[in-house]
Amino acid sequence: MELSVQSDSESVAASQAQPACPACGGSSISEGLLVPDQEYGLTYRARYLHCAACGSLFQEPMPSLQELAGFYPADYHSMTHAGLLSSIRNRIRVSRLEKLAPKQAAILDYGCGDGAFLVDAARHMPSRQFWGFEIAERPETAHLANGAVTVVKGALPDLLAVLPQCGLITLNHVIEHLPDPLATVSALVRKLAPGGVLEGQTPAADSLERFVFGARWSGYHAPRHTVVFSRSGLSRLLERCGLTAIATQGAFNPAGLAVSLASLPHRQGGRIRRGGFKWIAFLGAASLLGPIDLISGRPGVINFSARKRPG
Ligand SMILES: [Zn+2]
Repeated sequence: MELSVQSDSESVAASQAQPACPACGGSSISEGLLVPDQEYGLTYRARYLHCAACGSLFQEPMPSLQELAGFYPADYHSMTHAGLLSSIRNRIRVSRLEKLAPKQAAILDYGCGDGAFLVDAARHMPSRQFWGFEIAERPETAHLANGAVTVVKGALPDLLAVLPQCGLITLNHVIEHLPDPLATVSALVRKLAPGGVLEGQTPAADSLERFVFGARWSGYHAPRHTVVFSRSGLSRLLERCGLTAIATQGAFNPAGLAVSLASLPHRQGGRIRRGGFKWIAFLGAASLLGPIDLISGRPGVINFSARKRPG
C-alpha cells in the first residue's frame, strides 16, 4: 500500500475551458487523472478533474445518461443481494432510517435496484409507506410487500408524477452515480416534507484510502461514478439544494476497501469477482484494516444526513 501504487496512473493536464465543480459550483479546477475500470474490465478510461476549492472529483467530459447506462454490465454487483455482508449492511441501514425518519411520512429509496432492501425495511418498520425508484428505459410500477412498497421504474419525471410528500429520502451509494446531482437532489428535496430528512452513503474523496490507493481506490468505481464528493463538497451541494443540519460520519462498508485491495495487482484496470475464496479473503483483510480508516479521521466511505427547514 505504498505510494508507488499511483505511479502507472496517468496525469493529464486540465484543458483551457474548465466546467464548474458539480459539488460546490467552484471554478478553480486542478489537473485530472485517467482512471481505468478496476472491476468490470471496460476499456473506457474515465477522466476525473479535482476541485481545488472543495476537493471533490468529477468526470470530464461528464457522460450522458445513455453513455452511463452502457457502463453497467448485466452482472453488476448491486443486482445481487445474497450474502451475510449485505444482510448486515441492510440491518444497519434499517436502524439508521428508523432513527432518522420522522413518524408516519413516506420513505423513498432513490436507486432502489429491485426493491429488496425496501421489502426488508417494510418488515422491520410496519405501518410505513415505502417508495423506490430505479432508472429504466420503459416506465413501470410494481407493488411489493403486500402493497407497503411501491417501486417506480423509468425516468425521474415518472417518479415525481406519482410520489407523495416524503418524510425521508435515502440514497445509498447513488449520489455519486448522478451526472447532475444538483438538479436531481434539488428535485427530490422539493418532494420532502418540511423538517424531512435526506440521507445516504457515498465514498469520500478526502479519504486516507484514496490517498493510499490513488487510481486503484474503489471510490472512483470508474467509469460509473460521475462525482466523487469530499465531505465539504457534499455539504456544499446539500446546502445548495436547500438543506440544513448537514452531518457526515465514517461508515461501515468493508467491500469498498476490499475492492481497493483487490485492485492492487492491476496494471491498467481489470476485473474483480465479488464472490469466492479470494473475495472473502479481501473482505477479511478490509475488516482488519477498517479501524485504521475510522481512526484516521478521513474515512473512505461516509454516511450523510441533512434536513429540510421546518415550515
Ligand atoms: Zn468543489
